[in-house]
Amino acid sequence: MGKYICISCNAEIAPREKATRFLCPNCGEVEIVRCERCRKLNNPYKCPKCGFEGP
Ligand SMILES: [Zn+2]
Ligand SMILES: [Zn+2]
Repeated sequence: MGKYICISCNAEIAPREKATRFLCPNCGEVEIVRCERCRKLNNPYKCPKCGFEGP
C-alpha cells in the first residue's frame, strides 16, 4: 500500500498532491487515481478491470 499511480500518465502521485480518487463509474470495483495535471487536462483513463474509458 501507500503509493498511488496516476492511471492516465503512470506518474507516481506525490503525497501532498491533490490527486483525484474515485471508483470506476462503470464497474465500481476499481479505484481510479488521477494526478492533478491529468485531471486538469482531462486526460483519458481506462479501467483495468472492465475497460471503461472516460475523461
Ligand atoms: Zn497523470
Ligand atoms: Zn471498471
